[in-house]
Amino acid sequence: MNRPSMPAYEAYIEEIKSLWENRWLTHTGPKHQELEKKLCGYLGVENVSLFANGHLAMELAIDALQLKGEVITTPFTFASTTQAIVRNGLVPVFCDIDEKTYTMDAKKIESLITEKTSAIMPVHVFGNVCDVEAIARIAEKYNLKVIYDAAHSFGESVNGNAIGRYGDVSMFSFHATKVFHTVEGGCLTYADSSYTQKFNELRQFGMVGQESVQAIGTNAKMTEMHAAMGLCNLRVVDEFIMKRKLATERYHELLSGVPGISLCKIPGNIKPNYAYMPALFNKEEFGMSRDDVCDLLAEEGIYARKYFFPLTSHFEIYQGMFDIQETPVAEKVANNILTLPLYSDLSLEDVERVCKVLLKGR
Ligand SMILES: *Cc1c(COP(=O)(O)O)cnc(C)c1O
Repeated sequence: MNRPSMPAYEAYIEEIKSLWENRWLTHTGPKHQELEKKLCGYLGVENVSLFANGHLAMELAIDALQLKGEVITTPFTFASTTQAIVRNGLVPVFCDIDEKTYTMDAKKIESLITEKTSAIMPVHVFGNVCDVEAIARIAEKYNLKVIYDAAHSFGESVNGNAIGRYGDVSMFSFHATKVFHTVEGGCLTYADSSYTQKFNELRQFGMVGQESVQAIGTNAKMTEMHAAMGLCNLRVVDEFIMKRKLATERYHELLSGVPGISLCKIPGNIKPNYAYMPALFNKEEFGMSRDDVCDLLAEEGIYARKYFFPLTSHFEIYQGMFDIQETPVAEKVANNILTLPLYSDLSLEDVERVCKVLLKGR
């Protein structure tokens, strides 16, 4: 289903050579500083703060923005989004998703706002961009903060605007399976430079200098080894994205128009990154359920993922807490979606093989 993209081995070895000389391995070293700077450029944002992983970045963003009470979010996401809210002692309020993009349905946000609502946390799921303009209008009207889970949307833009410029803060994940990675890692992007100090404090135990502790922080620093991996990958990420594009286009050639399969269309105003290859199956029209397709592929050694299934609101740990009926579209999508194998080294022959297996079972 996924395979990390790798820079040339020699390039990484060259990149980390200086660590044997300066012995600066973590704590905002030269690689860390260089990566933050280069990412500001690549992501087209004012500020980038790096973290040990995307999840901790998101938890600390919520902490730094001092959110209270309820946060409106989506259940059609990776565990991380919901867990970050709950681990901050906040209550997630689940908004249903849009049938086409699978992102939060902006038309349904306002009816969920109460006097306890402090923020909206939407997800650019699969790199599909949320209705950023509508969300901005609602946030402004009700004075709410917006934190985007932009884990899937590295390098994307909307109407020529970098995606990390929307909302108060956006979180990008640099996990090994993402379009751009630092093995493990992540960052926050934001326009308000006054957040920088707070984020830096929180990722370093709340310490300011060596003797003053001013926040209940944690350890969420990115190491120099990880930043070096990021520097190497950043040089070749456009090539990774180009290869993903070719594989995605082949999938679309082979699967679009097949009755019972729906693929995501990329709107003309979006610069995409081809992060995932979701396909929605309609059993009546296609002849096989999502689960049957998944099993059929597995028999041939092809691992597709039921992603995202189950909805985060259905997790065992949240049993009885959330009403499934309230997000019927999310429920339907979670039950019928499969993300097909997609990574930068995936050959077009392999894409053809996946499609052949998938179509033969009908
Ligand atoms: C990967 C991912 C995260 C978490 O990122 P990590 O870097 O793995 O901590 C959060 N949200 C979504 C939607 C993700 O896919």
